[in-house]
Amino acid sequence: MRTARLEGLDRNGTWRNWAASVVARPSGTAAPGSEDEISTLLAGANDSGTRLKVVGGGHSFTPIAASDGLLLSLDALTGIVHVDAATARVRFRAGTRLRDVARLLEPHGLALANMGDIDHQSLAGAISTSTHGTGLGFTGFSGMVTALRLVLPDGSARECSPTSNPDLFQAARVGLGALGVLTEVTLQCVPRFKLRALEAPEPLEGMLESFVERCAGTDHLEFYWFPHTEVALAKTNKRLPDNTASDPVPLRSRLIDDELLGNGAFALTCRLGAALPWMVPRLNRFAARALAVREYTDQSERVFVAPRRVRFREMEYAIPLGALPAAFNQVRRVVEAYPQKISFPLEVRSAAADDTWLGTATGRETAYIAVHRYAREPAGDFLASVEKVFTEFDGRPHWGKLHTRDGAFFEAAYPRFGDFLAQRDAVDPHGTLLNEHLRHILGR
Ligand SMILES: Cc1cc2nc3c(=O)[nH]c(=O)nc-3n(C[C@H](O)[C@H](O)[C@H](O)COP(=O)(O)OP(=O)(O)OC[C@H]3O[C@@H](n4cnc5c(N)ncnc54)[C@H](O)[C@@H]3O)c2cc1C
Repeated sequence: MRTARLEGLDRNGTWRNWAASVVARPSGTAAPGSEDEISTLLAGANDSGTRLKVVGGGHSFTPIAASDGLLLSLDALTGIVHVDAATARVRFRAGTRLRDVARLLEPHGLALANMGDIDHQSLAGAISTSTHGTGLGFTGFSGMVTALRLVLPDGSARECSPTSNPDLFQAARVGLGALGVLTEVTLQCVPRFKLRALEAPEPLEGMLESFVERCAGTDHLEFYWFPHTEVALAKTNKRLPDNTASDPVPLRSRLIDDELLGNGAFALTCRLGAALPWMVPRLNRFAARALAVREYTDQSERVFVAPRRVRFREMEYAIPLGALPAAFNQVRRVVEAYPQKISFPLEVRSAAADDTWLGTATGRETAYIAVHRYAREPAGDFLASVEKVFTEFDGRPHWGKLHTRDGAFFEAAYPRFGDFLAQRDAVDPHGTLLNEHLRHILGR
């Protein structure tokens, strides 16, 4: 069997995801350079009873991308295939990383309409797990997909869109890596634009009272809450034409504030909090106070995305938008009552409803609440307590973040779950693309 050096794979052939929360030992690895090679590998695996998974950026916290069989990377299948200037629809090779998309789109005067916190993910991974940013006027990545190309376990390729193999298209827009290997995706893009960001601390209580209303009147709103404080750090992004003058974050502010929230200084406070848990409330109050008000204008991708170097474990649930204040208050009570002090801020975002079958925002305007645990601290029963609240509020877990839900849960949570399973059963009767995690969440 062919071998390839994949990101996350060590010399002993052990693969780890970004958070090191998942460890797997694939029996072989490959980085195919063409769709034909993918067809051959997939059909070969299917015929020989070998299981196969594709890994994108390895940024899912769950074992959704883990394989004890063949592990494929599409890092050799990247870039733009075609741009339709009239419709702003762009066909990408599915292994393209989000961090490369802006550079690829720039010569065409185009951009992604919205992005999440980071850009390490592959387009295929982000689409397959319903990855999202924030903004009530915008869907997650899957909602931007207008067509896709999939190699099925029998080695045949299918072109899918609302008019060509429409059911497979709907299923594969959030396909969980369970239907086939995505080789190309067409995304609805938008003209390039700038964002003016305003970051400012404000009272948590007022933020909770006004969040739903403000989401409707703001292009992109999110907030962070440092546990054991009364402060929300709000980030409000306004969309501006591309010819608006840039006024980027000064280097000093980037170093101080970005490091405090996401990186170096934050790593120190997390380590200190893990060693001396009684200090966590004090450290969080210090962090919330130290974050300055800042306003800046830059190219959209530079405002949406920030580096995240401190390793953590994350659970995120999608709840109906209107339930946000009540759900957040209940999560807050769980966080405050938990015997160990929680150092990591919670993050709250929103998204438009979409019509994907398994999109976390399908059929309803959505608020997302994300809770994190520093990677050096145990996450298990803390996340379990918070998850109980999320499910009471009709929550749906992010497919790439930690949760304990199973097929029976998803059957009740997603009206089209049965249709998704029917597509999966039809294209992969031998379960070539399944792993233990997928069997659990799909009930297969
Ligand atoms: C630091 C950090 C920040 C994050 N920020 C956000 C955020 O802001 N918003 C958000 O929604 N999520 C966020 N996430 C979660 C992340 O976006 C998702 O888990 C996403 O799946 C990761 O993409 P990936 O390319 O790493 O996919 P992987 O984790 O490698 O794979 C995910 C799934 O996609 C499948 N897959 C990959 N490639 C293909 C292919 N070519 N064909 C078929 N299936 C394929 C895999 O088999 C697997 O099932 C974050 C995660 C981390 C670690």
